[in-house]
Amino acid sequence: MLIYGTRATTIGEFTVPQAECASCHQRGTQRMAVFGRYAHLFWIPLFPVGKVAVAECTHCLRTLRKKEFSPELRRKYEEKQGEASRPVWHWAGLAVILLFFTSTAITEAFREVDPREALLDADLEQLTAQPALATDSVAYYTKAYFDEYIVPEMEPEDFKYYTREEGDKILLLLQIPTLKDLDQDARPEVVTMVNEIADDFPHLDGKQRYIGVKGQSSLMLVSSPGGEENSSYADEEGLYGFYGPKEGEQ
Ligand SMILES: [Zn+2]
Repeated sequence: MLIYGTRATTIGEFTVPQAECASCHQRGTQRMAVFGRYAHLFWIPLFPVGKVAVAECTHCLRTLRKKEFSPELRRKYEEKQGEASRPVWHWAGLAVILLFFTSTAITEAFREVDPREALLDADLEQLTAQPALATDSVAYYTKAYFDEYIVPEMEPEDFKYYTREEGDKILLLLQIPTLKDLDQDARPEVVTMVNEIADDFPHLDGKQRYIGVKGQSSLMLVSSPGGEENSSYADEEGLYGFYGPKEGEQ
């Protein structure tokens, strides 16, 4: 079974009143049909690909392809083929595809880029499996704690850490590639652990905490003064508050 190719539908039919059938010599017995071919994908018409004309004698049933047409039949075809117009649905697939790309491009062009998105991406790039005590002590001790208490099946050696302080806020980022293996209900326990560790640092006292936990590739847990999120694709906007208010807002 072909999932793509061409198909045809009748787009015009007319009689040829005076023409004589070359086979049975009857006059006015020939009918001409014009088919519009169109390319399809999964039987959805994409776009037209030419016309096919066939003449049939209603008396002797002989059919002729266009290249076998007598001059008279050919003349009739030239005269009438303009009337055989395609239904617009022959263009349906292409129209849908164009519409899709146009709307995607328009949406993309008008999308407001939040500069905080790039800042968070840059910080997520900093995630490391070997945080240094000298440069990121919070991450260093968080790793030490997780290495101690996380079961080996979760592969804590592959966890990554990064933390950053900014004024009265702290950003705590983690990556746990095996996070999806935990029941969804159990995942927020990671945030609880991070909070407990942070509680042990006197200098973090009273700082607003923005905690983001990435799974294999997407953010799965977000905890911020604005709320908590626990899903396979958590909205990273929950962490944007760390970088300040949205442009133009207080
Ligand atoms: Zn005939």
